[in-house]
Amino acid sequence: MQHRNRHIRLLFLSSETGGGHTAAAHAVATAVTQLAPQAECLIVDVLREHSALPFRYFPTVYGPLATQAPWLWEALFRVTDSRTRAELLTIASWPLAARRLRRMMRQHEPDMLVSFHPLLVRPAVRLGREWAVPVCCVVTDLVRLHAFWLDPAVDLYCLPTAEAAEAAKRMGIDAERIIVSGQPIPPSMAAPQNRLAARQALQLDPELPLVLLTGGGAGIGPLRPTAEAIAQLGIPLQLAVICGRNERLRQQLQRCRWPVPTFVLGFVHNMPQWLAAADILVAKAGPGTLAEALAAGVPTVVVYALPGQEEANVEFLRSQGAAIWAPQPQQAAAAVARLLQDPSLRQELAAKATRAARPQAATTIAKALIDLLAARRAQAGAAQASGAVA
Ligand code: UDP
Repeated sequence: MQHRNRHIRLLFLSSETGGGHTAAAHAVATAVTQLAPQAECLIVDVLREHSALPFRYFPTVYGPLATQAPWLWEALFRVTDSRTRAELLTIASWPLAARRLRRMMRQHEPDMLVSFHPLLVRPAVRLGREWAVPVCCVVTDLVRLHAFWLDPAVDLYCLPTAEAAEAAKRMGIDAERIIVSGQPIPPSMAAPQNRLAARQALQLDPELPLVLLTGGGAGIGPLRPTAEAIAQLGIPLQLAVICGRNERLRQQLQRCRWPVPTFVLGFVHNMPQWLAAADILVAKAGPGTLAEALAAGVPTVVVYALPGQEEANVEFLRSQGAAIWAPQPQQAAAAVARLLQDPSLRQELAAKATRAARPQAATTIAKALIDLLAARRAQAGAAQASGAVA
């Protein structure tokens, strides 16, 4: 359905703490412009571009912190995880943030704010109130929602799973403000992908099984020992290790001698193509990557979950029968061997992945955003008209 909105501008608030928030924002932006070509979606890295110290450094320290001190990450996650503490932190940090955020609003003059990042939900609510624009939130965690995500004043929540919706309701969000949309992934992934074409485009061996390794946008988790354990299985395969923005890891892996054909890459912009080419994915339990793997129907071995934040994602995928949890490099390599040697197990996992996937999520969200904006405009028009009559 084509929507008849003219000149609407949606400001998508995100930040590259990992890759998932911004990947989700891009997926929804693509879907919005497909549905309403006259709409403009601006994606901003608010922490990097429009925030004060110390928040500005958060995208830079996220990867090293999560890699080198996951215990500290977990402690920060748990200590801040209450509605009162989230409120207090917002009140304390608002004076630091307000001037820059208001400047961002004046610069872009949006008709709607959409937060894709938990740290930006409460600031978005404040800005939305000041500018009288609706505020939406696209949650990019599958099941376990940190208190930062949840503010009852948000006009519309787009949640990835029914479990996340239940959690949001328990934490005070009005059911009428929630839709269960799925985790947004690039709309192009909804169409069947051509495995051979992807392999040709990526210059891979067309026959050898491809095991794809990723640690999300920041290259987190035991990628090196896992890649080494898989390469040493003695099974014919080719390996692609996507290090994301973990430049140190990329350099280390490029210096290694590999007993199987191995591609070591930094941050790639064609993850759907890599997934189309892959036989098995070995990944961190990031929600974006997992949702993309489900849509691509790729059997997944989860080798790492960020403590606090991502453990529930593993349980969710296992409950769907769509992934194997192998939290040690040797276990992950053994799971890869089992999958490569047992095509029926691979098929079973792939079928369950496809069943659990929600490839239309970005389009569902885009439609909900456009509908909300249209409803608000109609309300405003009606209010104006009745004011004129009176
Ligand atoms: N990604 C990418 N290029 C890379 C590595 C990751 O585009 O080199 C994308 C990946 O496809 C996914 C997102 O970054 O959409 C990672 O999100 P996820 O939620 O899995 O983990 P995060 O990076 O946020 O921890």
